[in-house]
Amino acid sequence: MLLTTPLSSDVSVLIQNFTKESFAFEVFGGGAGDYAHECTLLLSGTEVFTSGVVAICFIGSSFQLKKHTFVGWSPMSKEMTATRAQGNTLFTIDDKPAFDIYTKYLNIKDDSEFFANAIGFPLLTKTKGDYLAKVPVSVGSDGSLAFISSVREGETFRLGFFNPEIIKSNLQDIKSSLNAFTPEAIFLFTCGCRRFALADDIQLETQYLADIAPVSGFYTIGEFCDIQGEVPQMNLAFIAVGMKESITFKPHKALPERKKKISSDKFLTSHMTVVGRLLYFINVLNEELEQQAITDGLTHLYNRRHFDAIFSATIRIAKRHNKLLCFLMMDVDYFKQYNDYYGHQAGDKALIKVAHCLKKNAQRADDYCFRLGGEEFGVLYKAENKDHALSFANMLRKSIENMHIEHEKSEISSFITVSIGLACKETNTISNESDYYKEADDLLYQAKKSGRNRVKIN
Ligand code: GH3
Ligand code: MG
Ligand code: MG
Repeated sequence: MLLTTPLSSDVSVLIQNFTKESFAFEVFGGGAGDYAHECTLLLSGTEVFTSGVVAICFIGSSFQLKKHTFVGWSPMSKEMTATRAQGNTLFTIDDKPAFDIYTKYLNIKDDSEFFANAIGFPLLTKTKGDYLAKVPVSVGSDGSLAFISSVREGETFRLGFFNPEIIKSNLQDIKSSLNAFTPEAIFLFTCGCRRFALADDIQLETQYLADIAPVSGFYTIGEFCDIQGEVPQMNLAFIAVGMKESITFKPHKALPERKKKISSDKFLTSHMTVVGRLLYFINVLNEELEQQAITDGLTHLYNRRHFDAIFSATIRIAKRHNKLLCFLMMDVDYFKQYNDYYGHQAGDKALIKVAHCLKKNAQRADDYCFRLGGEEFGVLYKAENKDHALSFANMLRKSIENMHIEHEKSEISSFITVSIGLACKETNTISNESDYYKEADDLLYQAKKSGRNRVKIN
């Protein structure tokens, strides 16, 4: 049994090398500490230490023990990757500041309540089929997250939430297993965070054990329990260890039920916000899915599907204003040659640059940029007159050429260029959207035929 001071020493370093091969014992235990004062003391004889480890060995010829552990949190988000991490600090998740996932998906702020709010939503990593939870304790000024245990670069995880159904079924299993084992004593190490998530129901998690045997233990900061030859540092875990060494079983007399204590503990009172945050999470997720459905994966412009949806709507809405509606169709010149010479990956990069250039230059509220497919783009915009429409199209064309993306195999320039077909219409003259589309397409064909790197207007 290990008792540690996780707030003043790096326990993950201590247990890093505990494997069954080098350490032929069963291991369990927990970290003791005070979240509020961040001061833990260790007493040994007449000495007092601010950090350290107590290791207790249980030895006996007929000694037996039975360990149970579970977390009871379920994954709820998509899988994410720790892209930059060192020691106990996680700098980036999917290349964005790690803290972003807590603000973006759960509306958790970087304030003094951060830890109290985040413990309901740990990061879950899958280890040997089971989920291990890691709770961030604080946010760095660079948006990094600090944990009690170490985080590995490349490690994948999901955001989790505590799941009462899983907790219920795990407790039932533990209860019947320990009942059958008939321990003489039970040690209990259960993460302090469970009190927050379970609120008043925390009693249900521990009380029944007192009917089986005398129980001792404490609410922990970080827990250990060897699992299939490894000793991971756990968070949020529940660990119950039954022990016995007498041959004959003496039935244990259950304790009388204790009165419930009323508490003003912030971990208990913020219970309701879990539901609020789950709803927030669902909303952000839905928005993200909707955004994904209309976005082209490579260029992040609107995709063809969104173009189809928006094209007719734009024509309809534009009829209420009497501006000129402009539909510009653009195709990269000699792009097959570009791919053949520079490779498909370089081709993709060039398309991303072209898309970025379009987005940067078509920024008015009713400008819409699309990737219509392959190396073909579309821009919908409004103009006062044909001259303005044409100069806008030429500005886009020149901006692309002026990026100077080298294209040795182009027959008309040293750089990547585009040809443009531009169909401008008074909206009340558009009778049929597919004719309008075809007009731009035909103009693009003419732009290609007449030498490329130019705009053809109707
Ligand atoms: P033109 O000047 O007449 O438009 O000639 P082109 O070579 O650009 O025309 P073509 O339609 O023959 O070739 C288009 C090429 O675009 C074919 C394909 O290799 C490339 N392409 C289409 N989609 C993608 C993509 O997503 N990524 C990359 N890298 N290449 C693409
Ligand atoms: Mg093409
Ligand atoms: Mg082309």
